[in-house]
Amino acid sequence: TVVCLGELLIDFVPDVNGLPLSQVEAFHRAAGGAPANVAAAVAKLGGRSRFIGKVGRDPFGRYLHEALREAGVEPALVETDEARTGLAFVSLKEDGERDFIFYREPGADMLLRKEDVREEWLRDTAIFHFGSLSLIVEPSRSATLDAARRARARGALVSYDPNVRLPLWPNAETARRIILDQLPFADLVKVSEEEVGFLYEGADTEEGVRLMLSLGPRCVIVTLGSAGCRVFTRTIETTVSGVKVEAVDTTGAGDGFVGGLLWGLAEAGVKAAELEKAMEDRAFAERTLRLANAVGALTTTRRGAIPALPALSQVNEKLGE
Ligand code: ADP
Repeated sequence: TVVCLGELLIDFVPDVNGLPLSQVEAFHRAAGGAPANVAAAVAKLGGRSRFIGKVGRDPFGRYLHEALREAGVEPALVETDEARTGLAFVSLKEDGERDFIFYREPGADMLLRKEDVREEWLRDTAIFHFGSLSLIVEPSRSATLDAARRARARGALVSYDPNVRLPLWPNAETARRIILDQLPFADLVKVSEEEVGFLYEGADTEEGVRLMLSLGPRCVIVTLGSAGCRVFTRTIETTVSGVKVEAVDTTGAGDGFVGGLLWGLAEAGVKAAELEKAMEDRAFAERTLRLANAVGALTTTRRGAIPALPALSQVNEKLGE
C-alpha cells in the first residue's frame, strides 16, 4: 500500500475562472491537499492507497472522508473537536496568479499528533509519502516525521515532496530550513527547478541536487513542467521528456506526477535499498518516469486536481500515441 500523510482540506473553487476572490459569486467544493491528491492519483491508476490525516468533527470532515473513499483511497482519518476542517478559497485570476484565503487557524489537519497515527495504518506500507504544509507547524510536523521514521523502520520506501508555495509558507528562510531538515528522512525527493534554486541560491540545478543528495536521499527527481523531468542518483542523471497535451489547468500536475511515480515503484516492488539500482537502470527509469510524466500531463487537461487525475487506461492510451 502507498500511504500518504499530511494536509487535507476542502478547496472552494469558483464556478468561473479568471476573477479575483472579491468578485466571485459562486464556488464549488473539491477535496484538496497535496498528499491527498497523491493518494487519489495512485488509486485512480488502480493501486492501493491510504491517506492519514485529521479533520474536524463537522460536515466538512465527513465530506472529505466520503471524497477520499469515492476517489478509491482508504481514509485513515482522526476526527477532532479541537479545530474545524480546513477550508480554502482559491481563484485563478486572469493573469494565472492564485488569489486565495485559508480558513484554518489552524485547521484540524495541522493538529495531527504522533499518537493519532495508528500502527495498523503503517504496517503494510510499501511506500510512505509526506510533504507540503503539515511540516511547517506543530504538532503535525512531529507527527509527520515520527510516522515517516516508523514506516521506514518497517521497511517502507519514504518519499517527500516539499511543495513550496511561498506565500503560504512562513518565510523563505524558514521554508529553506524546514526542507533541508526533512531531506535525511527521505529516500526519494521530488522538487521543481524553482525549488532547487530556492534551496541553494546561486547554484544551478545540478549543483543543488548534488547537495541535496549529500544529505541522505537516494534519488532526487526534478520536474520541468511540459518538458518532463530529470532523475538524479549519486552516480547518474537521466532526462525523461514530457508528454504533449493541451493544458487547461495545471493544478495537481505535480501531485499526479508523484502518484504516477509511486504507483510505478510500488507495482515493480522497488524497496528503499534498491531505489538507486532501479533508477540507474535506464530502461526502468524511462518507463517509470514516462508514465509519471503522462499522469502529470493528463492532470493538466481538465480542471481541478482529483477530478482531473487519469485512469491507467487513459495513461496507456496517451503513451501509445
Ligand atoms: P508542479 O505542479 O509541482 O509545479 P510541474 O509543473 O513541473 O510541477 O509538473 C509536474 C509534472 O507534470 C511535469 O514533470 C510533467 O511531467 C507534467 N506536466 C506539467 N505541466 C505540463 C504540461 N503543460 N504539459 C505536459 N506535461 C506537464
